[in-house]
Order: sequence, then C-alpha cells, then structure tokens
Amino acid sequence: MKPSILFKNIHVISAVPDPLLPWLSMENAWVAIKDGLISCVSDNRQDAAETLDGSDYSEYDGRHKLLMPALANLHGHIPMTLFRNQADDTNLHDWLFNVIFPREAKLDEAMVSKGTRLGLAEMIRSGTGAAADMYYHHEAAASAAQEAGLRLNFCCDCKSKDASGKDQVQQALLEQAMKLAEQAPDDLLRASMLVHSVYLYEADVYPQLAQLAESLNCPVQVHVSETRKEVVDCLQKYGQRPPKQLADFGFFKTSTLAAHCIHLDDEDRQILASPTITCVHNPASNLKLGSGFADLRAMMNADIQLGLGTDGAASNNNLDLFRDMRLAAFLAKGLSGDAGMMSAETILRMATVDGMQGLGFDQSGLIAEGFAADLQVIDLNQIELTPLGNPVSALVYSGSGSYVESLMVAGRWLMEKRELKTLDEEKVIFEAGQASEWLNQF
Ligand SMILES: [Zn+2]
Repeated sequence: MKPSILFKNIHVISAVPDPLLPWLSMENAWVAIKDGLISCVSDNRQDAAETLDGSDYSEYDGRHKLLMPALANLHGHIPMTLFRNQADDTNLHDWLFNVIFPREAKLDEAMVSKGTRLGLAEMIRSGTGAAADMYYHHEAAASAAQEAGLRLNFCCDCKSKDASGKDQVQQALLEQAMKLAEQAPDDLLRASMLVHSVYLYEADVYPQLAQLAESLNCPVQVHVSETRKEVVDCLQKYGQRPPKQLADFGFFKTSTLAAHCIHLDDEDRQILASPTITCVHNPASNLKLGSGFADLRAMMNADIQLGLGTDGAASNNNLDLFRDMRLAAFLAKGLSGDAGMMSAETILRMATVDGMQGLGFDQSGLIAEGFAADLQVIDLNQIELTPLGNPVSALVYSGSGSYVESLMVAGRWLMEKRELKTLDEEKVIFEAGQASEWLNQF
C-alpha cells in the first residue's frame, strides 16, 4: 500500500488537456494522492480529504510552495554523467569518435549502473520524473530506474556482431527488454529499440531493425540530422537526406523519439510531422557541440510534435531541464526575431504533458484527477522567485532545478524536503566518482 498524502494550501500550476485553454492556476488548493494517483484537486479541504476515505494520510504544508507536474526529459544518455567535464570544446564528430567511443568501449554493466544512478539522482534533484535513456546494458538502466523510482523509457541495443563481424539483429533480446518493461510495477518502464543514427551501422541492418520494431510494435529512439556532416554524408551514401532514408528503411511506423532534427528542409519536416514521431529539441547540447540549432518555428508550422531533452551530461553538462527550458525559449525568440515565439506556457507544456506522451506515459504530466501522482513541489521562498508574478513565467524564465523541494513519482517520494528517499546520495556520488576516474584515463 502506498501512503496517502494531502497537499494543503498549495499553489497548483498545470497545463490542461486542451492546449488552447488557459492553464490551471489555483492558490490555496487541496490535492489528495491515493494509490499513486491524484484523487482530488479542490479549493476546499473536505472534498479532497473525502477521497482519502478516512484512511491514514500525511499532510504536506503547501504555504509558499508551488505544486506542478514532474518534468519529462526526452533525450539523453544517462550514464554519460561519468564523462562530465572531461571532453569539452570539441565538435560532435571529433568528440564522439575520438573521445567518447574509446572510453565507452571500456564500460561494463557495473559502471553503467553507477553512471545511471548518478544521472537519476541529478534528475530527481531537479524535478524530472521521467526520462528517455539511449544507452547500452539496458538491464542495468531498468534496474537503476526501478530502484530510484523514476519513469524510464530505456533503449535495448538488439544489434550485435556475428562471428564474421557482420551486424546481426537479436529479436529475443528485444522481446526480453519489452517484457521487462511490461512487468515493471507502477508502469515505470518503457522499452525502445536503439537505432543510434543513420550513419553508424551497415546499410543492410537498418531494414531488419525497422521490420523488427514494426512486428513487435516497439518504440524507437534515434538521432536524426544532428549535424550538417550527417546530412551531407547521408546524401553521398544513400542519395537521400536522413529522415527520408530512415523512412525508406521502414522506420517511423512505431512511436519514435527523433533526437535533435536540426538540419531539416521542407520535405524532412513533412516526413517528421507524423503522429508517431516526437522530435526532441536539445538546445544546450546542440549549441555546446557546435551542431547548430533546431528551427522550432518551422517545425511548429509543420505541426511536428516536440519534446525537450538535455542530451547526455558529457555534452550539456548537466541534466537540469529547467535550464534547457529557459534556453529553448530564449533561443527560439532570438532566432525568430519574435518574442512571442515559445512562450513559457508552450515550453512548460513540452516539458510536462507533451513530453510524458512522447515517452509513452500517457497518464502523467497533468495535475488532474485520475492522473499519475508524478509531481514536484517548488519552494517559493527564493530571491529569484520574488515577486512570483506569472508563475509559469517564473518557472521557465527564473526557475532552476535547485528550487525543487520534493518530487514524487506514482505517489512515491523520490525526494522529500531535499532529501533523496530512494537513492543513497553519498554512495551514488562516491561510486560514480571512482568509475569516472578509472574510465577517463583512456
Ligand atoms: Zn544523443
């Protein structure tokens, strides 16, 4: 049984299902949590307490606090926390092939587990309740996420080399990963197929992967058009741009997280404007690696579904999605010359309910009855949040992950009053530090 909780006198901020309607902003609200779900959102105590059926519940004093949905981070490589601040000021291709890949070759499951725990702890501290993880050793990732209690859409790398060194596809491995996700309690996990990009594998393996994803109805995570070089190389090798080439291989038929999508033309955008695809904007990583920036105005005009991601800590160099919300908004305004572009509401919606849907967690991302209790409490006693003004603006433009006081996922506290409840923070930092020191000698 999960403990029931009653948030009292708290300021509730949430998008509502219809994107055209105003946000829910209710001061002195009462919010009841039961069995991992939001059972009531009300302006009076009696209504909220009644849904708890007189069962034992704890109260959370919400004065000078704000209750909002947990954030959704749609693209990242969580264990790359181990490479943080080790490989900076380098363009993507040099960075990937000369710095990251040689070190990743030394990674084992135990190290992935330590790096994942570090990343999950960082996300919990900064209000992220669900994330995508494109990496290897998926069992370590799934197990760390369940221990931490955070929702994770993890990747399974179901491609391996056969005896002759040729790429081959392992259906059984992907099936196992999907089963692992289905059996996770509290609907915490989703499994995706890892397709790194259009440039990393042998040509004949892509159609096999696409066919397998379709036959199992398995979601896919893939990098798309991240650099100009990727597009030029793809045109040279296949005579087509990455989105068209991936579509021709047979991808995009199942739910897809397409990370970056920076260098696009009109035809690319038409292909990506599909109900199965969420393009993931990673402004900090894209700028830091000198890859460029996604044209959000053109993508929104093309009706592309958008989500927000931090990417890995080796290219960001942190996983605080509040920073990326602010950067995404400012970048879009500056590039378009239109200050109305990417309003605070638009960005926060991307990082909450739209993001949760992109990850496959449809019952999360809103503060509404029946939705999962994936919530965070912001402490408003901050210099930077005074005066609060428009609360959504405050969160996006002057907010920071360090103002998150508490985070729950599926009604379970992952952090309560700044104390991590599921991970041993000291141990996580120590073990990740050791693993990182060893790895970064290569
Ligand atoms: Zn990435």
